[in-house]
Amino acid sequence: MEALVTLCKRRGFIFQSSEIYGGYAGFFDFGPLGVELKRNLKDVWWQDLVHGRDDVVGLDSSIIMHPEIWRASGHVGGFSDPMVDCKESKKRYRADQLFFAPVRVDGETIGYVSVEEKDGMEAEATEKAQTLKRKLSVQGELEPVVLREYTEAREDEYALIPSPATGKPGSLMAPRQFNLMFETKVGPLADASAVAYLRPETAQGIFQSYKNVVDTGRVKIPFGIAQVGKAFRNEITPRNFIFRSREFEQMELEYFIDPDEETWPAAYRYWIDWCKNWLVSLGIPASMVGEDVHPAEKLSHYSKGTTDLTFEFPFGRQELWGIACRGDFDLSQHQKHSGKSMEFFDEMRKQAGKEPFRYIPHVIEPSLGVDRLFLAVLTAAYQEDSVPNEKGEPEKRTVLRLHPRLAPFKAAVFPLVKNKPELVEKARGLYESLRRRWNIDWDVAGAIGRRYRRQDEIGTPFGITVDFETIEKDGAVTIRDRDTTQQERIPLEGVEAWLAERLR
Ligand code: ATP
Repeated sequence: MEALVTLCKRRGFIFQSSEIYGGYAGFFDFGPLGVELKRNLKDVWWQDLVHGRDDVVGLDSSIIMHPEIWRASGHVGGFSDPMVDCKESKKRYRADQLFFAPVRVDGETIGYVSVEEKDGMEAEATEKAQTLKRKLSVQGELEPVVLREYTEAREDEYALIPSPATGKPGSLMAPRQFNLMFETKVGPLADASAVAYLRPETAQGIFQSYKNVVDTGRVKIPFGIAQVGKAFRNEITPRNFIFRSREFEQMELEYFIDPDEETWPAAYRYWIDWCKNWLVSLGIPASMVGEDVHPAEKLSHYSKGTTDLTFEFPFGRQELWGIACRGDFDLSQHQKHSGKSMEFFDEMRKQAGKEPFRYIPHVIEPSLGVDRLFLAVLTAAYQEDSVPNEKGEPEKRTVLRLHPRLAPFKAAVFPLVKNKPELVEKARGLYESLRRRWNIDWDVAGAIGRRYRRQDEIGTPFGITVDFETIEKDGAVTIRDRDTTQQERIPLEGVEAWLAERLR
């Protein structure tokens, strides 16, 4: 993870926001290369999901919407995380990410240990339990440590559980619910009626505009509305780089289906598979993607099923993409709160004599965080290997094996030397013609091997070198493949077609 974060900073993918003021937790800037990769992720999603299908249309709704939307959706009342404060260190934890266990020796509780959620936290807790036993000089058999969420602690246990920050009990408070929505005020009056929210998800933007799309488009059930945009959550513990931030982007699809009981399971499975296959099509190995099916007792009352596609992040397996069957909950809520009918008139069902033909559609919602996808793509692409240098000796390199559709630069053009005007001019001409179609880099500085390495590190799939032979002999260039490092000689006039073939 550290290597990735360093690369992101060094090569201009991601910077800490407000760095000159000491940074601002949970906010990030995407630098010159990061913005390209992020745009490519969003463009590819849009191409494949909206342009590439007959049954999905797009939408770009506003970020700040009527506050009643968030009451209808349940966010005002319930979009909160349990938070716990440590009085002494002033550190703040999410209570569902803080775990504790009594330390028991021969049936007696001798104290408590606590750990923050992470891979290997059981081992860490056991080690802490052993240390406590030694410190208190207690003899006997240590019982296996069984961790529980801090949200499950009894009131009389709060004072006994040590804070992970200080290692001492007595400073952790009882959990409190903390609403994650950022508030703002709209209009000149600063009273309670002016309170509005920055959207914590893009999905409600789709539901509140659903009627407009139905009334103006020629959509037929089943159909989807897709949206890409910013979302804001005042996360208690932003962490793991861009995995959990306070300002992020989502790519969400609401796929509307009929309410028949037999319709949703197939649609649900279809979208889980679609999402998985899409990740694989972008070069993410299937072995790094898992399915975490939420158990029935953890589902919200309206949900028929939720599956998270997880990814093997450097800090452990975590949610990347949530796919939820939300029934007709959202549209029904908006119908109730707005007083406007959300019913869909299904002409096809009417003609087929199928009831109901007027109904509130049900919905399948695949919801993906752009920033999490960014991190997943980088994690999967990052590699350190060894390739022969100009002298044929093995040399270490860092390479981002990004899919060509995602790579910030699709190719880089290099004149072999910079002091031969004829050669530079030829290379520049090629560069100018290719950049009309793609984002292409131009690099004249340093030995050619070093220029290759620089491009490998930022994931440029192809390096194109114009050399003496190009101008003196064959009018061809050398194209080097990032992954295999193999080189091919291609006639100048054939370069664009050669690239087009490989950049699809
Ligand atoms: P978590 O349990 O991790 O807080 P969630 O279940 O609340 O996430 P959803 O509300 O399902 O997340 O959001 C849908 C998607 O949006 C997530 O799968 C994730 O990719 C992305 N996402 C959610 N919160 C954040 C965040 N704070 N930073 C970056 N991406 C996020």
